[in-house]
Amino acid sequence: MIPPERVRSLNDRAERRGGRVVYWMQAAQRPDWNHALEYAVRRANETGKPLFAWFGLTDRYPQANLRHYAFMLEGLRETQAALEKRGIPLIVERVAPARGIVAAARTAALVVVDSGYTRVERGWRRAAAAGLDCPLIQVETNVVVPVAAASVKDEFMAATLRPKIKRVWDRFLLPLKATPLRRGEAPSALKPLDLGAPERVLAGLRLDRAVGPVPGVAGGPSQAKRRLRRFLAEKIGRYPEDRNNPLVEGTSGLSPYLHFGQISPLEVALKAVATASPGRIAFVEELVVRRELSMNFVTYNDRYDRFEGLPAWARATLLEHRRDRREAVYGPAAFERARTHDPYWNAAQAQLLRRGGIHGYMRMYWGKKILEWSEDPAAAFATALRLNNRYGLDGRDPNGFAGVAWCFGKHDRGWPSRPVFGKVRSMNAAGLRRKFDADAYARRWTASAGP
Ligand SMILES: Cc1cc2nc3c(=O)[nH]c(=O)nc-3n(C[C@H](O)[C@H](O)[C@H](O)COP(=O)(O)OP(=O)(O)OC[C@H]3O[C@@H](n4cnc5c(N)ncnc54)[C@H](O)[C@@H]3O)c2cc1C
Repeated sequence: MIPPERVRSLNDRAERRGGRVVYWMQAAQRPDWNHALEYAVRRANETGKPLFAWFGLTDRYPQANLRHYAFMLEGLRETQAALEKRGIPLIVERVAPARGIVAAARTAALVVVDSGYTRVERGWRRAAAAGLDCPLIQVETNVVVPVAAASVKDEFMAATLRPKIKRVWDRFLLPLKATPLRRGEAPSALKPLDLGAPERVLAGLRLDRAVGPVPGVAGGPSQAKRRLRRFLAEKIGRYPEDRNNPLVEGTSGLSPYLHFGQISPLEVALKAVATASPGRIAFVEELVVRRELSMNFVTYNDRYDRFEGLPAWARATLLEHRRDRREAVYGPAAFERARTHDPYWNAAQAQLLRRGGIHGYMRMYWGKKILEWSEDPAAAFATALRLNNRYGLDGRDPNGFAGVAWCFGKHDRGWPSRPVFGKVRSMNAAGLRRKFDADAYARRWTASAGP
């Protein structure tokens, strides 16, 4: 059963008598545990119409670079092969998604799309809803609890969203079975890319090539499942302690796969709960409450990617302390090249450059110090977001916007006032050293330089 709260009509066009059902895959790039795909399969079977899946590959996405696209294409190639086995053709065209789907679905009966939360993703769906001559139905599948079923406003913090999620999550923590498709068929007029030759596809895209793929980190649903299996078998029991130790690989490493929709958060949550490990509680808190707090933030706060989107108290206190003396001041280039006086911070930045991500605990320190060592808090916000989204394999995600905003006071309360930070929570190097061997972390990441 697909809970009705996951399903929403984005326009009021009537379904065509003839034509195909189209699944417009964009945010949920996976062949299973995908409510939007299964909804489309069921509608095709019910109406006796053929189904095909379609994906619009654009290089106009903000901060599109080789690192992100190589990872995404590995996933799409695998997803295409898995769908093929289910008799569902997946056509990937190089085109702006909203314009492309309107053309690809010109004679379609109905289009089903997954949901995206950022401004760009919402804009695509809005434009397609206006341009299509058939219904566009959105099915929310990249969250455990649909955003509006949990809350209809920008939540203050995890403590205010948590009870709202928990009140309803039993309705959504349900396994999803794949339904066999009766008939799959794509229109012959479309111009699919050959994903079997990813190098050629990548070469044809206008991407920032200065940020290359992360060695040893392959994209794709099967890689995501492998990581999940390993995490559940070996790590979840120690997750509550290990997740705060950057020297131990104690977390799941799933964030890039979740970002590209290569694995379902519902599958991850249900499998984590099924382990009955005591660690599951802390893990589900991060995966569901914290992650979905980020979706809540970008959905209900239009300024989620700017200093102006912070709560009034945080903006006021940071501006009040704007002229405070800093122990150091760096511009964006020094941060980007990991050239600060602080070996711990430089190590975190080196990890971001080379591994496409920073350990969750150090990521907080990393963002807090950009705030502390920038001339101005609004400029610091822009620097942190740009670096996070450029180099993070999981960047450009609601979690990135919320994570950076958290460093500046979002989803947090006021603390005793300090220079530069005002009432925003601060972090310092002595705190790191108390928690773990910070010098060993610094040595590990700064031993060999460069991305
Ligand atoms: C400054 C800053 C920037 C961040 N940028 C990003 C980003 O670009 N993309 C991103 O996915 N996460 C971001 N985070 C959140 C968090 O650090 C990562 O999600 C986490 O470290 C990813 O590692 P993991 O997959 O091993 O997480 P695990 O600990 O295994 O957790 C499982 C999943 O839960 C979610 N999760 C875990 N911690 C958090 C958290 N604090 N907030 C929200 N969701 C969480 C993630 O989806 C994660 O993959 C950021 C945090 C900060 C402080």
